[in-house]
Amino acid sequence: MKKTDMLAYREKLHAIRSRLRGDVTAMAEVALRKSGMEGSDSNAMPIHMAELGSDNFEQEFTLGLMEADEGMLGHIESALERIERGSYGRCVQCDGAIPKARLNAIPYTPVCIKCAEQQENQ
Ligand SMILES: [Zn+2]
Repeated sequence: MKKTDMLAYREKLHAIRSRLRGDVTAMAEVALRKSGMEGSDSNAMPIHMAELGSDNFEQEFTLGLMEADEGMLGHIESALERIERGSYGRCVQCDGAIPKARLNAIPYTPVCIKCAEQQENQ
């Protein structure tokens, strides 16, 4: 891959990373604020048990999403490392070139389509 291409993907990865980090922080704040409010309300208002339940569910759901995003951040970090080493755009498993169409869709992917399918089938 040409160096100018790599730099373009690096820009993309930086953009995704900062957006993800912003989202993760915002979601964590919402989840924490919600649990804090429930704690202070619970003595005064015992009538909203049903609502409380759904809030807890929502909180778990949000935390689940955050875990997925943390995984994505890991992929982005290692993609950036591969750009630094000059090996970006090559599959980490078979060393084949990853098509640009795939990199444009998932710039942080470490593997080509063939290896990704193999991983899914395992
Ligand atoms: Zn491969």
